[in-house]
Amino acid sequence: MNQSKTDISTNINWEEIRAQFPVLNQEVNGKRLVYLDNGASSQMPQVVVDRINKYHSHEHANVHRGIHSLSQHATDAYEATREKVRRLINARYQEEIIYTTGTTDSINLVANSYGRKFFKEGDEIIVSEMEHHANIVPWQLVGEQTGAKLRVIPMNENGELEMERFYELLSEKTKFVSVIHVSNALGTINPVKEIIDAAHERNIPVLVDGAQAVPHSKVDVQELDTDFYAFSAHKMCGPTGFGILYGKKELLDSIPPYRGGGDMIDKVTFQKTTWNDLPHKFEAGTPPIAAGIGLGTGIDFLNSIGMENIAAREAELVAYATKKLSKIEGLRIVGTSHEKASVISFLLDGIHPTDAGTILDKEGIAVRTGHHCAQPVMDHFNIPGTLRASISFYNNEDDIDRLVDGIEYTKEFFA
Ligand code: PMP
Repeated sequence: MNQSKTDISTNINWEEIRAQFPVLNQEVNGKRLVYLDNGASSQMPQVVVDRINKYHSHEHANVHRGIHSLSQHATDAYEATREKVRRLINARYQEEIIYTTGTTDSINLVANSYGRKFFKEGDEIIVSEMEHHANIVPWQLVGEQTGAKLRVIPMNENGELEMERFYELLSEKTKFVSVIHVSNALGTINPVKEIIDAAHERNIPVLVDGAQAVPHSKVDVQELDTDFYAFSAHKMCGPTGFGILYGKKELLDSIPPYRGGGDMIDKVTFQKTTWNDLPHKFEAGTPPIAAGIGLGTGIDFLNSIGMENIAAREAELVAYATKKLSKIEGLRIVGTSHEKASVISFLLDGIHPTDAGTILDKEGIAVRTGHHCAQPVMDHFNIPGTLRASISFYNNEDDIDRLVDGIEYTKEFFA
């Protein structure tokens, strides 16, 4: 393979981009690290690490409160991320961008604020069989409080949603639809636009879990016309502890706050409290300021490459990996949808995923093993879990070749 791969059509030198990720430049267990667990968390480029350090070293103060310069400076830097996120996903207004601690928090916010206000006994919430637990359990919790029940869109053996079953599930009882955009366990890209349009014909709001979509492709919330959209900073070159909930302004205005405390109020008395305007109504307490600023720099970094270029490079790497892995005897890919993004889940004949993952780790190769927080997916395929290689634009063909060699070695080890 060509180590200094430059994409001729875009003039992007992918090896130069890779070199900006300090974590990748190290040995693990005496071997050069091959990091293929980007679906769990992506790495941060040096500019993001530096930006967070700069904040902690020179700029730290609490936001939204102080009249002093340092606090105002911190507030400006922290708030600047909101506009960057708005542009990234093409939201109409900055007030539609709610800061959360991640996808899980974003979904819990909607389940609690929207669900507790509007759901009642006999109502139904539609999710799919390939949801991450973060898009199942919050709805079950609110269901226990309100009497609403989950209905599930099944998937076929390729790991694609059975859309005709979705249309059958839609009924007078359906009060909400919440679906995953790109499956973290299978890589399937779901037809979320079709789902949103069908739900809207019945005036049913839709939340899309975009944790695995925003880092890998251009997402446009206005084009999708989604009501809510959730994602996490740490999967898109940003830090942990920070995430986004996009919501349409009129819907966010119609639901109560999720958490109470500082920042989210207008006026507090012991008799009655009124709420702050959007987006602060949903942002109680001191937030993870450094992480918010870091996400802003992460978005700048992604934009400097271009989301279309990122998507194209990752598609190239996924195609390369799929071709190479498919040739390995005894390897079965789980999730063979026609529309797939940067995740390849697989099994090795007669070798438990955890055992294989342990040997790969000894070879310096980081892959995920287990149920990937999607136990219903594993139940569907009647398997305990999979090995999962999740690819980012900063991976290269050499990483894939090392994975292939590592798998061959693992097979020999257990033979
Ligand atoms: N949804 C999907 C599709 C995910 O991949 C993840 C993270 N694995 C989550 C939700 C949860 O994200 P977080 O842990 O950042 O809240």
